[in-house]
Formats: sequence, C-alpha cells, structure tokens
Amino acid sequence: MSETAEKTAVVIVGGGVAGLALGNFLLRSGIECVIVEKHSRGYVERRQRAGALDGRGVRMFREWGLEEVMGGSSAGPLESEGMPLRIEGEPRAWKGGWDDDEEGGEGVFCPQQILVRNLIGTFLRDGGDLRFEAGDVSLEDLDSEHPRVRYRDAAGSAKVINCDFVAGCDGYHGVSRASIPADVLTCYSHEFGYAWLAVLAEVPADPPAVMAVHSRGFAAQITRGPDASRLYLQCPLTDTLEDWPDERIWSELAARFGEPVAVTGRIAEKQLVPLRCVVFSPMSHGRLFLLGDAAHLVSPMSAKGMSLALRDVEVFARAVVRQVEKGDSSGLDGYSDTCLKHIWNVQEFAVGVTGTMHDAGDASYAGEFRKQLARRELERMTESPVADRVSG
Ligand SMILES: Cc1cc2nc3c(=O)[nH]c(=O)nc-3n(C[C@H](O)[C@H](O)[C@H](O)COP(=O)(O)OP(=O)(O)OC[C@H]3O[C@@H](n4cnc5c(N)ncnc54)[C@H](O)[C@@H]3O)c2cc1C
Repeated sequence: MSETAEKTAVVIVGGGVAGLALGNFLLRSGIECVIVEKHSRGYVERRQRAGALDGRGVRMFREWGLEEVMGGSSAGPLESEGMPLRIEGEPRAWKGGWDDDEEGGEGVFCPQQILVRNLIGTFLRDGGDLRFEAGDVSLEDLDSEHPRVRYRDAAGSAKVINCDFVAGCDGYHGVSRASIPADVLTCYSHEFGYAWLAVLAEVPADPPAVMAVHSRGFAAQITRGPDASRLYLQCPLTDTLEDWPDERIWSELAARFGEPVAVTGRIAEKQLVPLRCVVFSPMSHGRLFLLGDAAHLVSPMSAKGMSLALRDVEVFARAVVRQVEKGDSSGLDGYSDTCLKHIWNVQEFAVGVTGTMHDAGDASYAGEFRKQLARRELERMTESPVADRVSG
C-alpha cells in the first residue's frame, strides 16, 4: 500500500485535554499542527475523567481567548471558602479545598469530557486538522531535526507526517514516552497501597463536592454536571468489581458520610483506580516533548491531573511560539526543567493531602500512629465549631 507524506510544524499525538488545548493554542498563534488520536470522536467526547479545573487553568483559557470552551460545563466555583468534609459523620469544611492557585484565581467544577467536546468543536470550527482513529502510531528520528510520525488512518492507509516537533500528549499508556530510550528516562513513583472504587452515577451532587473521612475509609461525591456524579470509595488493592454490587456502593457511602445519600440512581460505570503518583524525567528527548499524563500522574485525591496537563501545554505552546517567531530555542531547551519544578510542587500537595485524607480514616493501611498524626493535620485543615484548636 502506498504511503502519503505530509509536512507540518507540530504533530500532536493524542487528542485528550492536553493535545486538544495545545492544538487550539497553536492554531490561534498561526502555527501549523496535526492532532492524531487513536480513538473515535464519539469515544473521546464521552470518556469521563476529571471534574475540577484550578484557577490557573481557568485564567489560561481566558488569556488565550478560549473562555468559551469552559462554557456550559461549570457547576460553579470550587469551594474556595471550604469544601464540605464529614469526619466520622460530623460536618466540617476543608479550608481552601482544591483551589490553591498561588495568584488567587478561582477554579471551577468542569467535567473533563465537556471541556474535551468544546475543545474539539473550536479546533475543527477554526480549521484545525484532527485525525481520529489513527492506528499503529509510531515516532521516528526524534533526535534528528526532522522527526516523523507514522500511523494508519481509519481506512487502513499508511500515512507519514514530517514535522519540526512532536508533542506527546497520549496519556500514561501512549506510545510517545515509550519511544524514548529507557536509559534516558528516570521514573519516580509513589504507591499509596490502596485504591478508589470510582463510580459514575446518574444522580446530581448537591453540594457539588462532599468528602468523608471515616474509620471505614475515605468516600466522596463530586459533581459531573447537573445530572451526574462521581462517587469514590477507598478500598483495598485486592478488591474486584464483583465485590461492589450497586446496593453495597450506596450503603457504604451512607455509612461513611454518616447519613443517607440524598438521591440514589442508576450506576453507569465502575472502575478500580490504584492511587499513585508518578513523574518521568526528563520530559523531552530530542524533538519530542511529553505533556500531561504521558509524563506524570498525580493522585486523583488532589484533583490536579487535568490542571497539571494544561500547565505543561501553556509552557510548551509559549516555547514553540518563541521558537517559530523569534528563532529563540530557550523555552524549548528549558521546557522539562520548567515543568518539573511545578510538577514536584503539585506532587508534594498531592501526596500530603492523599495521605492525610486516607490515613486519618481506616487505620488498617497505615496504622494507629499515622492515623493520630493525620487527625491532627485534619484539624489544621478544617474548620468547625467543635474543632480542638490547642495552640503551642
Ligand atoms: C478517576 C479519575 C478522576 C480524576 N479527577 C481529576 C480532577 O478532578 N481534576 C483533575 O485535574 N484531574 C483529574 N484526573 C486526571 C485527569 O483526568 C488526567 O490527568 C487528564 O486526563 C490528563 O490529560 P492528558 O490529555 O494528558 O491525557 P488523556 O486524557 O489520557 O488523553 C490522552 C489521549 O491520547 C490518546 N492516545 C493514547 N494512546 C495513543 C496513541 N498510541 N496514539 C494516538 N493517541 C493515543 C487517548 O485516546 C487520549 O485521547 C482524574 C483521573 C481519574 C482516572
């Protein structure tokens, strides 16, 4: 079968939130790019993942003239005044919650699939080149000046795109990171030793987010738009989905919240997510740059994965613009170091908050000593009329 060769400035591998945001930013900056995405449009638009966008992410979309992509998606601001948190059934408020933007920006609840759907819409409307159902994607000659991306299109035809840069936005299990020689890459990882049963339920969440720290384990209900919520239940790594019939999910949530769940309904999806944090370094190799989950994972307890991916996008997009417009490679040369500095700050937050929220509950994982320490930390993080604020 014959092969068609094309040329562009940036090939973006992966049409998730990172790849699509990058495509939109480059398009608006007049830089040619092609996005190759493994799955179909319908699949990508329906895939349920994150639900929170931090203040920096909101500000970034505004600055790039893409405020519209957050439209219709927000269930309101993150609870910067304190997120509802029940400790052994007693109501408290987690001061600041997830919204820790250092420049004071306000984050929003923003279901990832709605953001993705809107980013696809604006990219295609503005003339972007997005190729769904790209199979057998492979990256070549990354350490030369002329890297190439090969793939097979939906009809089975072999394609090759020559480019100046490859943006690896293909998530944790993609091909981009795997194209970097193993001896060049260091993987730093932390396993928490427990999982979340992550459930998508067709019920509204009111308030938009509520969490529970309980001796039976952590639990949460987080909005995914007006008619859906994510339910999270801490469980052992050895649990299987068969251990969690629907009735057990609702009764366990009620037990951990210390009150009945206001509205129950159809459960659309269940998965088990082992909690871990991972960082790959460096985040570039030759003319390949890794962005988002391709380079790092943060515990979902931190609600920072999507925002962190968008931070990489911002750094990379500005660096490419500087390279193309001014011939200045300093942004691309420093890409990995710039991103890693921020990533390690977020990892510190993610490991701390995940440990506290889980260790303070079910002591069977980390023991009674850790539980007592985590309870003290929780006191500092929360507000309540009955909080024991012993000073000194
Ligand atoms: C249960 C759960 C809850 C979460 N909650 C939050 C939250 O509240 N807030 C938050 O900020 N983050 C959250 N996250 C994390 C967040 O969803 C991810 O960090 C985010 O999706 C990363 O975006 P990405 O574009 O880097 O990767 P992805 O979203 O994984 O996108 C990668 C894309 O690449 C495509 N792809 C893969 N392989 C190939 C290939 N070989 N060729 C071409 N394309 C390929 C995939 O189909 C996909 O479209 C959560 C994650 C989970 C699992």
